[in-house]
Amino acid sequence: MLRVDGLTLGYGGIRALENASIDVRENTVTTLVGSNGAGKSTLMKGIMGLMAPLAGEVRLDGERLSGLSTSQIVAQGVVLVPEGRELFPRMTVLENLQVGASLGGDGTRKKRNLDTVTELFPVLGRKLSMAARNLSGGEQQMLAVGRALMASPRFLLLDEPSIGLAPLVEEQLMASIRQVSNELGLGVLLVEQNAMLALENSYWAYVIELGRITKSAASADLVEDPSIVDAYLGG
Ligand code: ATP
Repeated sequence: MLRVDGLTLGYGGIRALENASIDVRENTVTTLVGSNGAGKSTLMKGIMGLMAPLAGEVRLDGERLSGLSTSQIVAQGVVLVPEGRELFPRMTVLENLQVGASLGGDGTRKKRNLDTVTELFPVLGRKLSMAARNLSGGEQQMLAVGRALMASPRFLLLDEPSIGLAPLVEEQLMASIRQVSNELGLGVLLVEQNAMLALENSYWAYVIELGRITKSAASADLVEDPSIVDAYLGG
């Protein structure tokens, strides 16, 4: 389990996250629901060691991640897919995947991970030699997720993976993410501007408001919660 315990983070003097505690379990998609600027990306940066905590810590199976470098955290099996994909547009699909694999062990494992990614996203398997920039938006997002999977993660942090995608593609991507979690036993922490879609495809959810976690509940219960419906699910 990936456990965030009392994490407080700030930018200069401004506190963007205050005493946040969440659990992300294996084999489960966990959603973080919150408005723009609530602190969702900040929490993900904190988990990855991209910001030094003012208080609190992050633990993986009881072992402290706080204090490790980001590459050490990746090596422990926690990988972030940041907002905006950050692919290498002129490189091919295969080359982009190989960049992810360079973090993830020996040749056999790389081959196995590539097989896994092309099974989960067959369209990537068919377009391995195509430049990433020539993929559709949905395919590029699959490539961003696929590249992260090449590093053999146990926990995947996804920051707004479906941003800019057409509704149908968005739904397909969410279904793929749930499938990835199921089939690989992966713990996924999902931030998604389409809160309804994220809740429909996750098991557990936390609500974050002004840098504080204000609610923790089963996703299926949150979609029935009137205050959540009003604030995040379009009334
Ligand atoms: P969004 O959905 O817009 O990405 P978010 O919930 O991910 O929002 P964060 O990006 O974590 O929110 O931002 C939390 C707070 O920290 C906001 O008030 C934001 O303005 C501030 N913030 C974020 N990044 C920086 C930065 N690099 N420097 C200063 N303040 C920042």
